[in-house]
Amino acid sequence: MDTTSLWLKEPPDGLPRSRSEGRAEVVVIGGGVTGCSCALTLAERGVRVRLYEAREIAGGASGRNGGFALRGAAAPYDEARRDLGDERARLVMELTERALDRIEELAGDAFRRVGSLRLAFDEREREALRREHDALREHGFAVEWVDQLEPPLDRLYRGAILHPHDGALQPARWVRRLAAHAASAGAEIREREAVTIEELDTDAIVVAGDGFIPQLLPELPVRATRGQVLATEPLRARLYERPHYARGGYDYWQQLPDGRLVLGGKRDSSFETEHTDVEETTAPIQDRLEAFVEQLVGYRPEVTDRWAGVWGTTPDLVPLVGEVRDRVWVAGGYSGHGNALGLACGDLVARAILGERPPELEIFDPARAVLPWQSASHG
Ligand SMILES: Cc1cc2nc3c(=O)[nH]c(=O)nc-3n(C[C@H](O)[C@H](O)[C@H](O)COP(=O)(O)OP(=O)(O)OC[C@H]3O[C@@H](n4cnc5c(N)ncnc54)[C@H](O)[C@@H]3O)c2cc1C
Repeated sequence: MDTTSLWLKEPPDGLPRSRSEGRAEVVVIGGGVTGCSCALTLAERGVRVRLYEAREIAGGASGRNGGFALRGAAAPYDEARRDLGDERARLVMELTERALDRIEELAGDAFRRVGSLRLAFDEREREALRREHDALREHGFAVEWVDQLEPPLDRLYRGAILHPHDGALQPARWVRRLAAHAASAGAEIREREAVTIEELDTDAIVVAGDGFIPQLLPELPVRATRGQVLATEPLRARLYERPHYARGGYDYWQQLPDGRLVLGGKRDSSFETEHTDVEETTAPIQDRLEAFVEQLVGYRPEVTDRWAGVWGTTPDLVPLVGEVRDRVWVAGGYSGHGNALGLACGDLVARAILGERPPELEIFDPARAVLPWQSASHG
């Protein structure tokens, strides 16, 4: 089976092309959400910026993900407050809420602001949800406790919290649009050109590679992590109005406007094989995903698409944004949570290159003392 994502199969609108042979002041490596966001900010400020993408725009994780546009970083808000402290956790949350507003402005029909539902699989997870709910409430962030779940969720889960301002993306359509915004602002975008850091003659290089950071900057504490997804034929009924996730993000699904179910996860059944940058599906995980579809839908619809993608995980699940070698910058390591964060961090790294010092840069400083590797992470 072809393992291109359902999202990338949609024909692209086409990019305003601008090709110049001159020297760029900044070169961005990677044409996902991070690289396109960075290129957009730099081009808007009049910087001569060139972006190289080895495949096509959104060809990496940005066009292969689950399409969840969630606020926050990978850790739930109560854990973020514990690990980062109240002030920093709040800054990250606000940063990503602003990023969601920006997605809404720029993405058109690639974004539906329908909220997201985090479900409790068991009593323990219900307590975890309660902690996140209370931590968000205490800091004045919108969140709703949900006890009455509709069938079949009432049978499978023990309550949920609704994040009302999150949303659902067609991620490839969104990032292609973001690239078009960057190109219209003057960024030069070169697809199907892989580059190395060493060959580039420029003032600053931005490595916007997330799961490909280990290949490009192996000294950084980032691990390539694979996620697998499938999509079904349109379901017989409309069952799910917004992105849903459970078991700490190891199960996630959304039903698309045309009725298809996009569902991913089950990585926790095989951590060893999923620590890889190979974008291939495997039968054991795909079989588990299919069995899970049946639980959620009540029958086995035809699976029309299967794909895999790779993201970058950091030991403390907090991204890295900053200068890591002379004139070499990085933005990535979203630990499976990069749709809103990637937009924000691409902009942050651009502003850092321009000499600004937004407060979030200190939180994402690649030189921070990182925690030991945790055994599990989200998604
Ligand atoms: C299966 C899966 C499900 C996910 N689900 C979600 C979700 O629902 N919500 C969420 O918020 N996040 C999710 N994520 C994470 C999110 O997709 C990523 O964190 C985000 O897209 C990273 O964007 P990026 O631009 O930093 O990296 P990418 O989109 O991976 O872009 C990096 C690009 O760099 C290119 N590249 C690599 N090396 C070179 C080179 N030498 N020269 C030129 N180009 C190069 C690659 O081809 C790639 O296109 C998921 C990820 C996966 C894989």
